[in-house]
Amino acid sequence: MKISKIGFGIIALCCLGFAGVSAQETDKAKYDAHVLFHPLFNFQPGNEYRSASGAPGPKYWQNRADYKINVALEEDKRVVTGDVEITYKNNSPENQDFIWLQLDQNAFNDQSRGGKTTPVTGGRFGNTGFSGGDSLKSVTIQQGKDKFVNADYIISDTRMQIRLTTPLKANGDMIKIKIAYSFKIPEYGSDRMGTLETKNGIVYEMAQWYPRVAVFDDIEGWNLLPYLGAGEFYLEYGDFEYNVTVPWDHIVAGSGELLNANEVLTAEQRKRLAEAAKSDRTIMIRSAEEVTNASTRPKQSGMQTWRFKISQARDIAWATSKAFVWDAAKINLPKGKTALAQSMYPAEDGGQDGWGRSTEYVKGSIEFYSSYVHEYTYPVATNVAGIVGGMEYPGIIFCSSKSRKDDLWDVTDHEFGHNWFPMIVGNNERKYAWMDEGFNTFINFLSTDNFNNGEFKNAQMNNLHRLAPMIFRPKADPIMTIPEVIQPANLGWEAYYKPAMGLRMLREQVLGKDRFDYAFHMYVQRWAFKHPTPYDFFRTMEDAAGEDLGWFWKGWFFENYRLDQSVKEVSYIEQNPQKGSLITIENLEQWAMPAKIDIEEVSGKKTRVEFPVEIWQRGGSWTFRAATQQPIRSVTIDPDNKLPDINSENNVWKPAKFAEPEIN
Ligand SMILES: [Zn+2]
Repeated sequence: MKISKIGFGIIALCCLGFAGVSAQETDKAKYDAHVLFHPLFNFQPGNEYRSASGAPGPKYWQNRADYKINVALEEDKRVVTGDVEITYKNNSPENQDFIWLQLDQNAFNDQSRGGKTTPVTGGRFGNTGFSGGDSLKSVTIQQGKDKFVNADYIISDTRMQIRLTTPLKANGDMIKIKIAYSFKIPEYGSDRMGTLETKNGIVYEMAQWYPRVAVFDDIEGWNLLPYLGAGEFYLEYGDFEYNVTVPWDHIVAGSGELLNANEVLTAEQRKRLAEAAKSDRTIMIRSAEEVTNASTRPKQSGMQTWRFKISQARDIAWATSKAFVWDAAKINLPKGKTALAQSMYPAEDGGQDGWGRSTEYVKGSIEFYSSYVHEYTYPVATNVAGIVGGMEYPGIIFCSSKSRKDDLWDVTDHEFGHNWFPMIVGNNERKYAWMDEGFNTFINFLSTDNFNNGEFKNAQMNNLHRLAPMIFRPKADPIMTIPEVIQPANLGWEAYYKPAMGLRMLREQVLGKDRFDYAFHMYVQRWAFKHPTPYDFFRTMEDAAGEDLGWFWKGWFFENYRLDQSVKEVSYIEQNPQKGSLITIENLEQWAMPAKIDIEEVSGKKTRVEFPVEIWQRGGSWTFRAATQQPIRSVTIDPDNKLPDINSENNVWKPAKFAEPEIN
């Protein structure tokens, strides 16, 4: 999901005002080492499901849901109608007397919890003035050798419970659930799906479009937070086969692989696609000039069914329009494999400043993450231009048709970065937005630096002294807050930037790149296509990097502890600069970080000294001996502005100048 620019703007404005206040507040010391380095922080024993090392335990289990779906778009009624067959496998060690599903379309209604909790001012995820929701025609289940029978079920807002007469047995029993349903397509479904009128036709972006099984796990049992808007998704992995029937003049993009190109594409389009699959340069599959030409479709009347499949995915989405321009290029994967990058967009949004470069961005983004994080696992990656500002689904993303230049790079890179978090590493987004948005924003920093020799490199997020008043603003929510409780203006910081900056600091200032990258990869390898919790992440990082980081998680992720390092004083040994100096640094706020200090002598000689965070276990003041040989011109702590130091004014020590007394 895209970073909310509105929230970011408000924060930027507010923070100008906070900077002065913060500097004054830091006058009194607030640091207590006992609090920051408390031995019982993160004190939970591991178990056989999740080990204390942060790895899945020897008895780790996860349930599975495979889907077969057939839907049709009834364009005149703006309705999607169809059926889904879910094969659900209970790998848990418990029998299930009931199964919970998600009907997220039910949020798009004034009467829903999401509707009723939408403020009068609306908001990005708000849904008012629309009476949508899933309408269920039939719900049947099939167990063992029995036939399909009508299910006993209830619906509670966006949740649906199927009550079983015969329990679904532990350790591998399966049930089939068949639901015939339809829903009215919202124009704007919480900025994650919807429709957009364009010059040559409507762009439909379809998500949360079929009933899905909720996750039953070893942490919470059934995960049943309702869909209100801000909190995203938590879903089981499985294989999907799905058929989408649309009017003949539409082009459909969907998660995964198109299975019937010979039925839905012209011979010329298939030829161009084959060329694109071998081309590093973007190849036009259906040009702007061809969009309104009926001969670019294999038939000129009625409806057409597009068939797709995707393996090991936690969700699927699709988009359709008769307005789509379509281009594609090859993605090179690390071990010599390839995939296809493609973009679908209205003709009016093409061009080199706009969507004409989208496929290049998709390719650049996926090639980077495939080598830094984990190889991309789907055959196709599609970027669709439409009403949604920026939203991710496995193998397909929706980005605003209005995005241009660096904005389009940023949103494309961000949404495809989500293919790793949460699509490969399947965290619970509805509860821990930072585990996907924050991790993703962190890898986006690296990817953006890397793309096209730094074409879109942005230093805005590099000077942490400048950003500290925003990071530590008084109304901030802790990162460890569920998305619905994070205030809308804070979401950009708490779910995206603050966790991303935390990981970057951990990589560059605490562990170093090698130890961080090894541990971060270990986390991805251990939890790819599984369901990690925050503790699984914390523990893996600590074990694989070899560091007790409780103080780091506590201060940055669980609390809003602030950081203020300062240089207090300098004295010379026996008052003789040639004998060296004693330098006292201080930690004035409740968080702590390792210290870097630059010492400059009058000759211009510069020395950098570094201390681990453990100096602050001795208290908030630390004196060290420096082998200087001349009077000192300056001592600077955190000279590169790499730490979010709330008060830069006390970071530099300079000798007091002799001031002539005033004579009256
Ligand atoms: Zn996102």
